[in-house]
Order: sequence, then structure tokens, then C-alpha cells
Amino acid sequence: MSAKILYGKDFAALIKEKVRFEVDKMIFKPGLAVIIVGENPASQVYVRNKHKTCEELGINSKVVALPENTTKEELLNVIDELNAAENIQGILVQLPLPDAIKAHSDEILNRINPLKDVDGFHPMNVGNLVIGNPKLVPCTPAGCLEMLDLAGIEIDGKRAVIIGRSNIVGKPMLHLLMARHATVTVCHSHTKNLAEITREADILVAAMGKPKFVTADMIKPGAVVIDVGINRIAPKKLVGDVDFDAAVEIAGAITPVPGGVGLLTVAMLMKNVVTATKLQIGV
Ligand code: NDP
Repeated sequence: MSAKILYGKDFAALIKEKVRFEVDKMIFKPGLAVIIVGENPASQVYVRNKHKTCEELGINSKVVALPENTTKEELLNVIDELNAAENIQGILVQLPLPDAIKAHSDEILNRINPLKDVDGFHPMNVGNLVIGNPKLVPCTPAGCLEMLDLAGIEIDGKRAVIIGRSNIVGKPMLHLLMARHATVTVCHSHTKNLAEITREADILVAAMGKPKFVTADMIKPGAVVIDVGINRIAPKKLVGDVDFDAAVEIAGAITPVPGGVGLLTVAMLMKNVVTATKLQIGV
């Protein structure tokens, strides 16, 4: 049996269509500011993608490109200006920051007005998610949940296992699935007997950053497998955390890499810009 393949572009198109509809109804065009510090080539690609998607959906896009040697204070000043700017509803600092200011990442991200924090990383947004009152949720896990819903995959009462406990993917995924009444286990690098746990999963989310780590024998027949991992194993070759070719024979549904969850992340960012705008104007 071969699994149903959940292609990110199909779900991203549906999410973007809804965003375009919402933006068209607004009396002003929302604005997203993306701050990029330094010249990291991967970050530049991500920022260009975000800019292009904003243009596609009628969202004003402002890219603030700062030099590699930008100080923490200079960056905080830029964030303060964007926090105060009336034409900017969403602010995002592209990670990773250069080595010289990397240690201050938390302080820098926490400076963003929580109502404009479209990455959902501010402690206030994290807290709202944990207490079951989500406002702005990190885009990748939110995209995974949206995809499950759009694909008509039931979550309530299901056994879910997440591999990875980062603040960006694993932890928010836990809260999103738990809020939807799944019974969730979060695994990490100290977890014993990982395969025994993953084999219990009706929904398995792999977010560890280890190429093809999840093998077919770790998957329950018929399970939904969401591969968040993006691993570059050669200059032009990306693979996920799941051994796709083997897993596709045992899973019930599976996301490919590339072409899976990654495409949802940008679409959900656009959705967060709409959510942030509504939060700011109080609707
Ligand atoms: P992190 O490195 O922050 O976290 C990795 C997690 O995996 C940690 O919790 C770690 O455990 C756990 N882990 C590592 N090795 C093992 C192991 N052998 N067994 C069990 N758990 C393990 O990564 P991120 O969450 O930021 O990203 C994960 C992957 O998702 C990466 O490939 C990244 O590129 C990708 N990603 C994709 C996105 C997209 O848009 N599709 C967006 C964000 C990330 P411990 O906590 O104990 O160290």
C-alpha cells in the first residue's frame, strides 16, 4: 500500500486564497516588515520568498536589510521604529542572527510588540498558546495543523508523537495537538526506546533535523507522517527527517521533502499578518 502524499503547494494555495480574500476586504493594505541582518544566503532566499508572497497577496512588504556588523542597540532601535509605525502590522526578524549578536536573540525578539509578532515567538504569544488562547502561533506548527484540517484528518482522540522539542516546532506542535484533544508524546534526544513510542503514533511529527532518521519500522501502518525536517545532504539535495521512499509504503499519508511542510510556513506567515492586523484594529 502506498501512502497518500500531502503536497504542501495544494494546502498553501488554499491558505493563500483565504488570506487574499481577507486582505481584499480590509480598508487598508496590511504591512509586513522583515528585518534581515547580514548576508546569510539561505536567509536571503527565505526573505525574498516572503516578499514575493506578500506581493502576490496584496500585503505591503518592507525588507529592512542591515549590515553584518549591526549592534544589538541598533537592531532594537529599528524594532522600536517598526513597533510604532502605523503602516506595519507584522514584524519578523529573520533568524539566525550574526554570531556577534546571536546571544541576544531572545532580548531582540522580545522587543517586538506581541500584537505585531507574526512569528509567534514572543513569550506573551507562547503563553497564550499554552493556556489554550492562541493569538499568533509559530508558522510551521500552525501550518501542520492547518494541513491536517484541510486534508480532513481527524485529530480528536488520536495518539500523536512529536520528535523534537524546540520552541519553534516541537513545543508549539504539542500545544496545538493537545488543544485539539490528541494524546501527545514529545520525544527528544534523551528519549529511550524511541521507535517503540513512534510506532504507537496515529500522527507522527518528525522535527529533529536528522536526515532520514525515521525509518519504516518506526511507523505504525496507516499513520499520518508529517516531516518537518529540512536537511541539505548535497549542494542541491534536500531531504527530510523521514526516510520517505520506505515510509511511503507503510504510512497512510505523508508529506514529502521538499514540497511538503516548508511551503505551508510562508502561507501561514501571511495568515498571521491578517490575524495581527485584526488584533490591532480590534476585530
Ligand atoms: P532544533 O535543533 O531546535 O531541535 C531539534 C530537536 O530534535 C531537539 O528537541 C532535539 O532534542 C531533537 N533531537 C535531535 N536528535 C534527536 C534524536 N536522535 N532522537 C530524538 N530527538 C532528537 O530544530 P528545529 O525544531 O528548529 O528544526 C527541526 C527541523 O525542522 C530542522 O531540520 C529544521 O531545518 C526544520 N524546520 C523546518 C521548517 C519548515 O518551514 N519546514 C521550519 C523550522 C524548522 P534535544 O532537545 O534533546 O536536543
